[in-house]
Amino acid sequence: MGDYEYDLLVIGSGPAGQRAAIQGAKLDKRVGIVERRAVVGGVCINTGTIPSKTLREAVLHLSGYREKGLYGASYAVKQNITMGDLLFRTDHVVRHEIDVTRHQLMRNHVEVLAAEASFLDAHTVRLNDVDGRGQHDATASTIVIATGTNATRDAHIPFDGRRIFISDDILQLDRLPRTMAVVGAGVVGCEYASLFAALGVRITLIDKRPRLLPFVDAEIIDALAYHLRQNRVTLRLGEEVSGMEPFEDEHGERVRIHLASGKQIVADKALHSIGRTGATQELNVQAAGVATDDRGRIRVNANFQTQVPHVYAVGDVIGFPSLASTSMEQGRLAVCHAFAVKTKSVPELFPYGIYTIPEISTVGRNEEALTEQGIPYEVGKAHYREIARGQIIGDSTGLLKLIFHLDTRELLGVHILGEGASELVHIGQAVMAFGGKIEYFVNTVFNYPTLAECYKTAAFDGINRLGM
Ligand SMILES: Cc1cc2nc3c(=O)[nH]c(=O)nc-3n(C[C@H](O)[C@H](O)[C@H](O)COP(=O)(O)OP(=O)(O)OC[C@H]3O[C@@H](n4cnc5c(N)ncnc54)[C@H](O)[C@@H]3O)c2cc1C
Repeated sequence: MGDYEYDLLVIGSGPAGQRAAIQGAKLDKRVGIVERRAVVGGVCINTGTIPSKTLREAVLHLSGYREKGLYGASYAVKQNITMGDLLFRTDHVVRHEIDVTRHQLMRNHVEVLAAEASFLDAHTVRLNDVDGRGQHDATASTIVIATGTNATRDAHIPFDGRRIFISDDILQLDRLPRTMAVVGAGVVGCEYASLFAALGVRITLIDKRPRLLPFVDAEIIDALAYHLRQNRVTLRLGEEVSGMEPFEDEHGERVRIHLASGKQIVADKALHSIGRTGATQELNVQAAGVATDDRGRIRVNANFQTQVPHVYAVGDVIGFPSLASTSMEQGRLAVCHAFAVKTKSVPELFPYGIYTIPEISTVGRNEEALTEQGIPYEVGKAHYREIARGQIIGDSTGLLKLIFHLDTRELLGVHILGEGASELVHIGQAVMAFGGKIEYFVNTVFNYPTLAECYKTAAFDGINRLGM
Protein backbone atom coordinates (compact mmCIF):
# COMPACT_ATOMS: atom_id res chain seq x y z
CA MET A 1 0.00 0.00 0.00
CA GLY A 2 2.88 2.33 0.87
CA ASP A 3 3.87 2.84 -2.77
CA TYR A 4 0.73 4.73 -3.60
CA GLU A 5 -0.05 8.37 -2.89
CA TYR A 6 -3.43 7.48 -1.35
CA ASP A 7 -4.75 4.38 0.38
CA LEU A 8 -8.16 5.35 -0.92
CA LEU A 9 -9.14 7.62 -3.78
CA VAL A 10 -12.83 8.32 -4.18
CA ILE A 11 -14.19 9.80 -7.42
CA GLY A 12 -17.35 11.86 -6.84
CA SER A 13 -18.50 13.68 -3.71
CA GLY A 14 -22.22 12.80 -3.68
CA PRO A 15 -23.67 10.74 -0.82
CA ALA A 16 -21.93 7.54 -1.97
CA GLY A 17 -18.49 9.17 -2.32
CA GLN A 18 -18.75 11.19 0.89
CA ARG A 19 -19.57 8.14 3.00
CA ALA A 20 -16.86 6.09 1.35
CA ALA A 21 -14.27 8.81 2.01
CA ILE A 22 -15.33 9.38 5.63
CA GLN A 23 -15.29 5.65 6.33
CA GLY A 24 -11.75 5.47 4.91
CA ALA A 25 -10.67 8.40 7.10
CA LYS A 26 -12.19 6.78 10.20
CA LEU A 27 -9.94 3.81 9.48
CA ASP A 28 -6.92 6.17 9.49
CA LYS A 29 -6.30 5.81 5.76
CA ARG A 30 -4.86 8.51 3.51
CA VAL A 31 -7.96 9.54 1.59
CA GLY A 32 -8.53 11.83 -1.39
CA ILE A 33 -11.91 12.68 -2.91
CA VAL A 34 -12.14 14.07 -6.45
CA GLU A 35 -15.01 16.34 -7.48
CA ARG A 36 -15.42 18.05 -10.84
CA ARG A 37 -18.14 20.46 -9.76
CA ALA A 38 -17.16 23.70 -8.10
CA VAL A 39 -18.80 22.44 -4.90
CA VAL A 40 -19.11 19.12 -3.09
CA GLY A 41 -22.38 17.24 -2.54
CA GLY A 42 -23.22 15.79 -5.95
CA VAL A 43 -26.66 15.62 -7.53
CA CYS A 44 -28.07 14.97 -4.07
CA ILE A 45 -27.22 18.36 -2.56
CA ASN A 46 -26.93 20.55 -5.64
CA THR A 47 -29.68 19.64 -8.10
CA GLY A 48 -31.64 16.58 -6.91
CA THR A 49 -32.73 15.41 -3.49
CA ILE A 50 -32.09 18.44 -1.31
CA PRO A 51 -33.35 21.18 -3.69
CA SER A 52 -36.46 19.18 -4.67
CA LYS A 53 -37.37 18.40 -1.07
CA THR A 54 -36.79 21.98 0.01
CA LEU A 55 -38.86 23.31 -2.89
CA ARG A 56 -41.60 20.93 -1.79
CA GLU A 57 -41.48 22.22 1.77
CA ALA A 58 -41.59 25.82 0.51
CA VAL A 59 -44.60 24.99 -1.68
CA LEU A 60 -46.43 23.26 1.17
CA HIS A 61 -45.78 26.18 3.50
CA LEU A 62 -46.48 29.12 1.18
CA SER A 63 -49.51 27.57 -0.52
CA GLY A 64 -50.97 26.61 2.87
CA TYR A 65 -51.57 23.19 1.35
CA ARG A 66 -51.47 21.29 4.65
CA GLU A 67 -54.03 23.61 6.22
CA LYS A 68 -56.57 23.69 3.41
CA GLY A 69 -58.41 20.65 4.80
CA LEU A 70 -59.19 22.69 7.95
CA TYR A 71 -59.40 26.30 6.74
CA GLY A 72 -60.72 25.81 3.21
CA ALA A 73 -59.33 25.83 -0.33
CA SER A 74 -58.76 29.60 -0.35
CA TYR A 75 -56.32 29.49 2.59
CA ALA A 76 -52.74 30.41 1.63
CA VAL A 77 -49.78 31.93 3.49
CA LYS A 78 -48.90 33.94 0.38
CA GLN A 79 -50.79 34.81 -2.78
CA ASN A 80 -49.00 34.93 -6.15
CA ILE A 81 -46.08 32.74 -5.18
CA THR A 82 -43.01 33.30 -7.40
CA MET A 83 -39.96 31.20 -8.24
CA GLY A 84 -38.02 33.73 -6.13
CA ASP A 85 -40.12 32.85 -3.06
CA LEU A 86 -39.40 29.15 -3.56
CA LEU A 87 -35.70 29.60 -4.27
CA PHE A 88 -35.15 31.71 -1.16
CA ARG A 89 -35.51 28.65 1.06
CA THR A 90 -33.79 26.28 -1.37
CA ASP A 91 -30.65 28.44 -1.73
CA HIS A 92 -30.31 28.67 2.03
CA VAL A 93 -30.57 24.90 2.60
CA VAL A 94 -28.30 23.95 -0.33
CA ARG A 95 -25.58 26.37 0.81
CA HIS A 96 -25.77 25.04 4.36
CA GLU A 97 -25.60 21.39 3.25
CA ILE A 98 -22.57 22.07 1.03
CA ASP A 99 -20.84 23.74 3.95
CA VAL A 100 -21.65 20.89 6.37
CA THR A 101 -20.35 18.30 3.90
CA ARG A 102 -17.17 20.21 3.17
CA HIS A 103 -16.52 20.73 6.86
CA GLN A 104 -17.08 17.05 7.58
CA LEU A 105 -14.52 16.07 4.93
CA MET A 106 -12.02 18.63 6.24
CA ARG A 107 -12.50 17.58 9.87
CA ASN A 108 -11.72 14.02 8.89
CA HIS A 109 -8.62 15.10 6.93
CA VAL A 110 -9.98 13.94 3.58
CA GLU A 111 -8.17 15.81 0.82
CA VAL A 112 -10.67 17.39 -1.56
CA LEU A 113 -9.30 17.53 -5.12
CA ALA A 114 -11.21 19.92 -7.39
CA ALA A 115 -10.72 18.11 -10.69
CA GLU A 116 -12.27 15.86 -13.28
CA ALA A 117 -10.91 12.34 -12.97
CA SER A 118 -10.17 9.83 -15.71
CA PHE A 119 -8.36 6.52 -15.38
CA LEU A 120 -4.90 5.98 -16.83
CA ASP A 121 -4.64 2.46 -15.43
CA ALA A 122 -6.15 0.43 -12.58
CA HIS A 123 -4.17 2.34 -9.90
CA THR A 124 -3.67 5.73 -11.56
CA VAL A 125 -6.13 8.53 -12.20
CA ARG A 126 -5.50 11.69 -14.19
CA LEU A 127 -6.90 14.80 -12.49
CA ASN A 128 -7.75 17.74 -14.75
CA ASP A 129 -8.15 20.74 -12.45
CA VAL A 130 -11.60 22.36 -12.59
CA ASP A 131 -10.16 25.85 -12.80
CA GLY A 132 -8.24 24.82 -15.93
CA ARG A 133 -4.88 25.41 -14.24
CA GLY A 134 -3.49 22.07 -15.27
CA GLN A 135 -3.44 18.42 -14.51
CA HIS A 136 -1.63 15.87 -12.40
CA ASP A 137 -1.86 12.15 -11.75
CA ALA A 138 -2.78 10.46 -8.50
CA THR A 139 -2.21 6.84 -7.51
CA ALA A 140 -4.15 4.80 -4.97
CA SER A 141 -4.24 1.23 -3.75
CA THR A 142 -8.07 1.28 -3.61
CA ILE A 143 -10.29 3.38 -5.86
CA VAL A 144 -14.01 3.93 -5.37
CA ILE A 145 -16.04 5.16 -8.34
CA ALA A 146 -19.00 7.22 -7.07
CA THR A 147 -19.65 9.42 -10.09
CA GLY A 148 -23.45 9.16 -10.04
CA THR A 149 -25.57 9.93 -13.08
CA ASN A 150 -26.57 12.59 -15.58
CA ALA A 151 -30.16 13.13 -16.71
CA THR A 152 -30.80 11.14 -19.89
CA ARG A 153 -31.36 13.47 -22.83
CA ASP A 154 -33.23 12.31 -25.91
CA ALA A 155 -31.27 13.62 -28.91
CA HIS A 156 -34.54 14.48 -30.73
CA ILE A 157 -35.77 16.87 -28.03
CA PRO A 158 -34.78 20.56 -28.48
CA PHE A 159 -33.78 21.30 -24.88
CA ASP A 160 -33.18 24.96 -24.07
CA GLY A 161 -33.11 24.69 -20.26
CA ARG A 162 -35.96 27.20 -19.99
CA ARG A 163 -39.00 26.09 -21.97
CA ILE A 164 -37.99 22.45 -22.48
CA PHE A 165 -35.82 21.39 -19.59
CA ILE A 166 -34.59 18.58 -17.32
CA SER A 167 -34.94 18.44 -13.54
CA ASP A 168 -31.39 19.88 -13.08
CA ASP A 169 -32.66 23.13 -14.68
CA ILE A 170 -35.58 23.71 -12.31
CA LEU A 171 -33.61 25.96 -9.98
CA GLN A 172 -32.87 28.23 -12.98
CA LEU A 173 -36.53 28.70 -14.01
CA ASP A 174 -37.32 32.40 -14.30
CA ARG A 175 -41.05 32.13 -13.56
CA LEU A 176 -43.79 29.70 -12.67
CA PRO A 177 -45.69 28.58 -15.76
CA ARG A 178 -49.49 28.50 -15.98
CA THR A 179 -49.39 25.11 -17.68
CA MET A 180 -46.67 22.47 -17.76
CA ALA A 181 -46.20 19.05 -19.32
CA VAL A 182 -44.13 16.47 -17.48
CA VAL A 183 -42.78 13.72 -19.72
CA GLY A 184 -41.87 10.65 -17.68
CA ALA A 185 -43.89 9.59 -14.63
CA GLY A 186 -41.03 8.03 -12.65
CA VAL A 187 -40.33 9.19 -9.10
CA VAL A 188 -38.83 12.54 -10.17
CA GLY A 189 -41.61 13.22 -12.73
CA CYS A 190 -44.38 12.39 -10.25
CA GLU A 191 -42.76 14.46 -7.49
CA TYR A 192 -42.42 17.57 -9.64
CA ALA A 193 -45.87 17.09 -11.23
CA SER A 194 -47.55 17.06 -7.82
CA LEU A 195 -45.37 19.91 -6.48
CA PHE A 196 -46.24 22.29 -9.33
CA ALA A 197 -49.89 21.15 -9.27
CA ALA A 198 -50.08 22.15 -5.59
CA LEU A 199 -49.10 25.66 -6.73
CA GLY A 200 -52.02 25.73 -9.15
CA VAL A 201 -49.99 24.98 -12.31
CA ARG A 202 -52.12 22.90 -14.74
CA ILE A 203 -50.07 19.75 -15.28
CA THR A 204 -50.23 17.05 -17.94
CA LEU A 205 -48.24 13.98 -16.87
CA ILE A 206 -47.26 11.67 -19.73
CA ASP A 207 -45.74 8.19 -19.59
CA LYS A 208 -45.58 5.27 -21.99
CA ARG A 209 -46.25 2.83 -19.15
CA PRO A 210 -49.92 2.24 -18.33
CA ARG A 211 -49.43 2.81 -14.57
CA LEU A 212 -47.67 5.30 -12.35
CA LEU A 213 -44.69 3.93 -10.37
CA PRO A 214 -45.28 0.21 -11.07
CA PHE A 215 -43.05 -0.90 -8.16
CA VAL A 216 -45.39 0.66 -5.58
CA ASP A 217 -48.47 -1.09 -4.12
CA ALA A 218 -51.39 -0.65 -6.56
CA GLU A 219 -53.85 0.60 -3.92
CA ILE A 220 -51.43 3.35 -2.86
CA ILE A 221 -50.90 4.33 -6.50
CA ASP A 222 -54.65 4.42 -7.15
CA ALA A 223 -54.94 6.84 -4.23
CA LEU A 224 -52.05 8.95 -5.57
CA ALA A 225 -53.65 9.10 -9.03
CA TYR A 226 -56.93 10.22 -7.39
CA HIS A 227 -55.17 13.03 -5.51
CA LEU A 228 -53.25 14.14 -8.59
CA ARG A 229 -56.52 14.38 -10.53
CA GLN A 230 -58.09 16.30 -7.62
CA ASN A 231 -55.24 18.78 -8.11
CA ARG A 232 -56.20 19.06 -11.78
CA VAL A 233 -53.35 16.92 -13.12
CA THR A 234 -54.23 15.26 -16.43
CA LEU A 235 -52.74 11.78 -16.67
CA ARG A 236 -51.79 10.60 -20.14
CA LEU A 237 -50.57 7.07 -19.44
CA GLY A 238 -49.80 4.46 -22.09
CA GLU A 239 -48.84 7.32 -24.42
CA GLU A 240 -45.49 7.78 -26.15
CA VAL A 241 -44.04 11.20 -27.01
CA SER A 242 -43.07 11.34 -30.69
CA GLY A 243 -41.82 14.93 -30.79
CA MET A 244 -41.66 18.28 -29.04
CA GLU A 245 -41.45 21.71 -30.61
CA PRO A 246 -41.19 25.17 -29.12
CA PHE A 247 -43.40 27.83 -30.76
CA GLU A 248 -44.63 31.35 -30.11
CA ASP A 249 -48.13 32.82 -30.52
CA GLU A 250 -50.23 35.61 -29.00
CA HIS A 251 -50.04 33.81 -25.62
CA GLY A 252 -46.24 33.89 -25.66
CA GLU A 253 -43.58 31.18 -25.85
CA ARG A 254 -44.96 27.68 -25.54
CA VAL A 255 -44.27 24.02 -26.35
CA ARG A 256 -46.28 21.60 -28.48
CA ILE A 257 -45.89 17.92 -27.60
CA HIS A 258 -46.86 15.31 -30.16
CA LEU A 259 -47.96 11.90 -28.95
CA ALA A 260 -47.63 8.76 -31.06
CA SER A 261 -51.41 8.32 -30.75
CA GLY A 262 -51.86 11.56 -32.71
CA LYS A 263 -52.85 13.68 -29.69
CA GLN A 264 -51.15 17.02 -29.07
CA ILE A 265 -50.51 18.79 -25.80
CA VAL A 266 -49.71 22.49 -25.60
CA ALA A 267 -48.05 23.88 -22.47
CA ASP A 268 -46.02 26.89 -21.34
CA LYS A 269 -43.13 24.64 -20.30
CA ALA A 270 -42.16 20.98 -20.45
CA LEU A 271 -40.10 18.99 -17.97
CA HIS A 272 -38.44 15.98 -19.60
CA SER A 273 -37.67 13.33 -17.01
CA ILE A 274 -37.11 9.92 -18.57
CA GLY A 275 -34.38 8.57 -16.34
CA ARG A 276 -30.66 8.92 -15.76
CA THR A 277 -27.47 7.58 -17.34
CA GLY A 278 -24.31 6.58 -15.44
CA ALA A 279 -21.72 9.41 -15.39
CA THR A 280 -18.85 7.37 -16.83
CA GLN A 281 -18.37 9.00 -20.26
CA GLU A 282 -15.32 11.03 -19.25
CA LEU A 283 -13.99 8.50 -16.75
CA ASN A 284 -12.16 6.18 -19.19
CA VAL A 285 -12.90 3.19 -16.94
CA GLN A 286 -11.80 0.87 -19.74
CA ALA A 287 -8.19 1.88 -18.98
CA ALA A 288 -8.66 0.34 -15.55
CA GLY A 289 -10.17 -2.81 -17.03
CA VAL A 290 -13.74 -1.92 -15.96
CA ALA A 291 -16.67 -2.17 -18.37
CA THR A 292 -19.94 -0.21 -18.50
CA ASP A 293 -23.34 -1.18 -19.90
CA ASP A 294 -25.27 0.72 -22.59
CA ARG A 295 -26.56 3.18 -19.97
CA GLY A 296 -23.10 3.98 -18.63
CA ARG A 297 -23.57 1.91 -15.48
CA ILE A 298 -20.96 -0.29 -13.83
CA ARG A 299 -21.68 -3.85 -12.74
CA VAL A 300 -20.45 -4.86 -9.27
CA ASN A 301 -20.58 -7.93 -7.02
CA ALA A 302 -22.19 -8.13 -3.57
CA ASN A 303 -19.15 -6.34 -2.09
CA PHE A 304 -19.37 -3.50 -4.67
CA GLN A 305 -16.20 -4.66 -6.44
CA THR A 306 -15.96 -4.23 -10.20
CA GLN A 307 -14.20 -6.83 -12.37
CA VAL A 308 -11.00 -5.31 -10.95
CA PRO A 309 -11.06 -6.24 -7.24
CA HIS A 310 -9.46 -3.07 -5.85
CA VAL A 311 -11.73 -0.80 -7.94
CA TYR A 312 -15.15 -0.45 -6.33
CA ALA A 313 -18.28 1.30 -7.64
CA VAL A 314 -21.14 2.58 -5.46
CA GLY A 315 -24.22 4.80 -5.65
CA ASP A 316 -26.28 5.68 -8.70
CA VAL A 317 -23.49 4.70 -11.10
CA ILE A 318 -24.27 1.04 -10.35
CA GLY A 319 -28.01 1.51 -10.98
CA PHE A 320 -30.89 0.19 -8.83
CA PRO A 321 -32.11 1.40 -6.41
CA SER A 322 -30.49 4.81 -7.09
CA LEU A 323 -31.37 6.51 -3.84
CA ALA A 324 -29.26 8.85 -1.72
CA SER A 325 -29.96 6.66 1.29
CA THR A 326 -28.77 3.40 -0.28
CA SER A 327 -25.83 5.16 -1.97
CA MET A 328 -24.47 6.26 1.41
CA GLU A 329 -24.66 2.74 2.80
CA GLN A 330 -22.98 1.28 -0.29
CA GLY A 331 -20.09 3.74 0.09
CA ARG A 332 -19.57 2.70 3.69
CA LEU A 333 -19.83 -1.03 2.97
CA ALA A 334 -17.44 -0.91 0.01
CA VAL A 335 -14.69 0.76 2.03
CA CYS A 336 -15.19 -1.58 4.98
CA HIS A 337 -14.77 -4.48 2.57
CA ALA A 338 -11.70 -2.96 0.95
CA PHE A 339 -9.95 -2.63 4.31
CA ALA A 340 -11.22 -5.94 5.72
CA VAL A 341 -13.52 -4.42 8.35
CA LYS A 342 -16.38 -6.75 9.25
CA THR A 343 -19.84 -5.18 8.91
CA LYS A 344 -23.38 -6.20 9.54
CA SER A 345 -25.94 -4.54 7.31
CA VAL A 346 -29.37 -5.33 5.93
CA PRO A 347 -29.15 -3.21 2.77
CA GLU A 348 -31.86 -5.24 1.00
CA LEU A 349 -34.49 -4.02 3.49
CA PHE A 350 -34.47 -0.37 2.47
CA PRO A 351 -37.45 1.96 2.40
CA TYR A 352 -38.56 4.08 -0.52
CA GLY A 353 -39.55 7.68 0.18
CA ILE A 354 -41.47 9.26 -2.67
CA TYR A 355 -42.10 12.92 -1.98
CA THR A 356 -45.18 13.43 -4.07
CA ILE A 357 -48.02 15.44 -2.57
CA PRO A 358 -49.29 13.44 -0.75
CA GLU A 359 -46.10 11.66 0.29
CA ILE A 360 -45.61 7.90 -0.17
CA SER A 361 -43.31 5.54 1.63
CA THR A 362 -42.98 1.83 1.40
CA VAL A 363 -40.81 -1.01 2.71
CA GLY A 364 -40.96 -4.72 1.99
CA ARG A 365 -43.22 -6.48 -0.46
CA ASN A 366 -46.55 -5.32 -1.84
CA GLU A 367 -49.74 -7.25 -2.59
CA GLU A 368 -48.92 -7.77 -6.26
CA ALA A 369 -45.46 -9.24 -5.53
CA LEU A 370 -46.79 -11.56 -2.82
CA THR A 371 -49.61 -12.80 -5.05
CA GLU A 372 -47.12 -13.47 -7.82
CA GLN A 373 -44.87 -15.37 -5.41
CA GLY A 374 -47.84 -17.40 -4.09
CA ILE A 375 -47.33 -16.22 -0.50
CA PRO A 376 -50.57 -16.15 1.54
CA TYR A 377 -51.06 -12.82 3.29
CA GLU A 378 -53.62 -10.59 4.96
CA VAL A 379 -53.83 -6.82 5.06
CA GLY A 380 -54.60 -4.38 7.86
CA LYS A 381 -55.37 -0.73 7.15
CA ALA A 382 -55.72 2.51 9.06
CA HIS A 383 -56.91 5.79 7.59
CA TYR A 384 -55.46 8.95 9.11
CA ARG A 385 -59.01 10.26 9.54
CA GLU A 386 -59.64 7.49 12.14
CA ILE A 387 -56.70 8.71 14.24
CA ALA A 388 -56.84 11.77 16.49
CA ARG A 389 -53.55 13.14 15.10
CA GLY A 390 -54.95 12.84 11.57
CA GLN A 391 -57.87 15.05 12.58
CA ILE A 392 -55.61 17.52 14.39
CA ILE A 393 -53.33 18.05 11.38
CA GLY A 394 -56.23 17.97 8.95
CA ASP A 395 -54.95 15.06 6.85
CA SER A 396 -58.10 13.09 6.11
CA THR A 397 -56.66 11.28 3.10
CA GLY A 398 -53.70 9.41 4.64
CA LEU A 399 -53.59 5.63 4.63
CA LEU A 400 -51.27 3.14 6.33
CA LYS A 401 -51.39 -0.43 5.14
CA LEU A 402 -49.69 -3.42 6.76
CA ILE A 403 -49.23 -6.74 4.98
CA PHE A 404 -48.47 -9.81 7.05
CA HIS A 405 -48.08 -13.54 6.45
CA LEU A 406 -51.37 -15.37 6.87
CA ASP A 407 -49.86 -18.28 8.82
CA THR A 408 -46.80 -16.91 10.62
CA ARG A 409 -48.22 -13.34 11.07
CA GLU A 410 -44.77 -11.99 10.19
CA LEU A 411 -44.82 -8.44 8.86
CA LEU A 412 -44.02 -8.52 5.12
CA GLY A 413 -44.65 -4.97 3.96
CA VAL A 414 -45.67 -1.46 5.02
CA HIS A 415 -47.18 0.98 2.52
CA ILE A 416 -48.10 4.51 3.51
CA LEU A 417 -49.61 7.50 1.74
CA GLY A 418 -49.95 10.78 3.60
CA GLU A 419 -48.21 13.30 5.82
CA GLY A 420 -45.04 11.98 7.44
CA ALA A 421 -45.09 8.70 5.48
CA SER A 422 -41.32 8.66 4.95
CA GLU A 423 -40.70 9.00 8.70
CA LEU A 424 -43.45 6.60 9.81
CA VAL A 425 -42.21 3.79 7.59
CA HIS A 426 -39.13 3.24 9.74
CA ILE A 427 -41.22 1.79 12.57
CA GLY A 428 -42.38 -0.97 10.24
CA GLN A 429 -38.88 -1.35 8.80
CA ALA A 430 -37.42 -1.96 12.26
CA VAL A 431 -40.09 -4.53 13.11
CA MET A 432 -39.45 -6.29 9.80
CA ALA A 433 -35.67 -6.28 10.33
CA PHE A 434 -36.20 -8.22 13.56
CA GLY A 435 -38.71 -10.62 12.00
CA GLY A 436 -41.56 -9.09 14.06
CA LYS A 437 -45.19 -10.11 13.79
CA ILE A 438 -48.41 -8.13 13.50
CA GLU A 439 -49.12 -8.72 17.23
CA TYR A 440 -46.19 -6.45 18.10
CA PHE A 441 -48.29 -3.41 17.21
CA VAL A 442 -51.31 -4.65 19.15
CA ASN A 443 -49.23 -5.21 22.27
CA THR A 444 -47.29 -1.94 22.13
CA VAL A 445 -48.25 1.41 23.61
CA PHE A 446 -47.78 4.33 21.20
CA ASN A 447 -47.63 8.01 22.06
CA TYR A 448 -51.06 9.62 21.80
CA PRO A 449 -52.07 11.44 19.68
CA THR A 450 -49.61 10.46 16.95
CA LEU A 451 -49.75 9.20 13.38
CA ALA A 452 -47.75 6.18 14.60
CA GLU A 453 -50.97 4.98 16.20
CA CYS A 454 -52.02 4.00 12.69
CA TYR A 455 -49.82 0.94 13.15
CA LYS A 456 -51.95 -0.22 16.07
CA THR A 457 -55.24 0.49 14.34
CA ALA A 458 -54.07 -1.25 11.15
CA ALA A 459 -52.89 -4.26 13.17
CA PHE A 460 -56.29 -4.57 14.87
CA ASP A 461 -57.95 -4.28 11.46
CA GLY A 462 -55.72 -7.03 10.07
CA ILE A 463 -56.36 -9.37 13.00
CA ASN A 464 -60.12 -8.73 12.72
CA ARG A 465 -59.96 -9.75 9.07
CA LEU A 466 -58.63 -13.12 10.21
CA GLY A 467 -61.98 -13.55 11.97
CA MET A 468 -60.40 -13.49 15.42
C1 LIG B 1 -34.74 15.48 -8.74
C2 LIG B 1 -34.20 14.36 -7.90
C3 LIG B 1 -34.75 14.09 -6.66
C4 LIG B 1 -34.25 13.05 -5.87
N1 LIG B 1 -34.84 12.81 -4.65
C5 LIG B 1 -34.35 11.82 -3.87
C6 LIG B 1 -34.92 11.58 -2.58
O1 LIG B 1 -35.86 12.25 -2.16
N2 LIG B 1 -34.40 10.61 -1.81
C7 LIG B 1 -33.34 9.83 -2.24
O2 LIG B 1 -32.89 8.96 -1.48
N3 LIG B 1 -32.77 10.04 -3.46
C8 LIG B 1 -33.27 11.01 -4.27
N4 LIG B 1 -32.70 11.24 -5.50
C9 LIG B 1 -31.58 10.39 -5.92
C10 LIG B 1 -30.28 10.85 -5.29
O3 LIG B 1 -30.02 12.20 -5.59
C11 LIG B 1 -29.16 9.97 -5.79
O4 LIG B 1 -29.48 8.63 -5.48
C12 LIG B 1 -27.82 10.31 -5.16
O5 LIG B 1 -27.46 11.65 -5.39
C13 LIG B 1 -26.74 9.39 -5.72
O6 LIG B 1 -25.55 9.67 -5.07
P1 LIG B 1 -24.14 9.38 -5.75
O7 LIG B 1 -23.14 9.73 -4.71
O8 LIG B 1 -24.14 8.02 -6.32
O9 LIG B 1 -24.05 10.36 -7.00
P2 LIG B 1 -24.23 11.94 -7.19
O10 LIG B 1 -25.00 12.55 -6.09
O11 LIG B 1 -24.75 12.06 -8.56
O12 LIG B 1 -22.75 12.51 -7.11
C14 LIG B 1 -21.78 12.15 -8.06
C15 LIG B 1 -20.70 13.21 -8.09
O13 LIG B 1 -19.62 12.73 -8.89
C16 LIG B 1 -19.08 13.82 -9.62
N5 LIG B 1 -18.37 13.30 -10.80
C17 LIG B 1 -18.89 12.64 -11.85
N6 LIG B 1 -17.93 12.31 -12.72
C18 LIG B 1 -16.77 12.78 -12.22
C19 LIG B 1 -15.43 12.73 -12.66
N7 LIG B 1 -15.06 12.13 -13.79
N8 LIG B 1 -14.48 13.34 -11.89
C20 LIG B 1 -14.83 13.97 -10.74
N9 LIG B 1 -16.08 14.01 -10.27
C21 LIG B 1 -17.04 13.42 -11.00
C22 LIG B 1 -20.31 14.63 -9.99
O14 LIG B 1 -19.95 15.98 -10.30
C23 LIG B 1 -21.15 14.53 -8.73
O15 LIG B 1 -20.88 15.59 -7.85
C24 LIG B 1 -33.17 12.27 -6.32
C25 LIG B 1 -32.59 12.54 -7.56
C26 LIG B 1 -33.09 13.57 -8.35
C27 LIG B 1 -32.47 13.85 -9.69
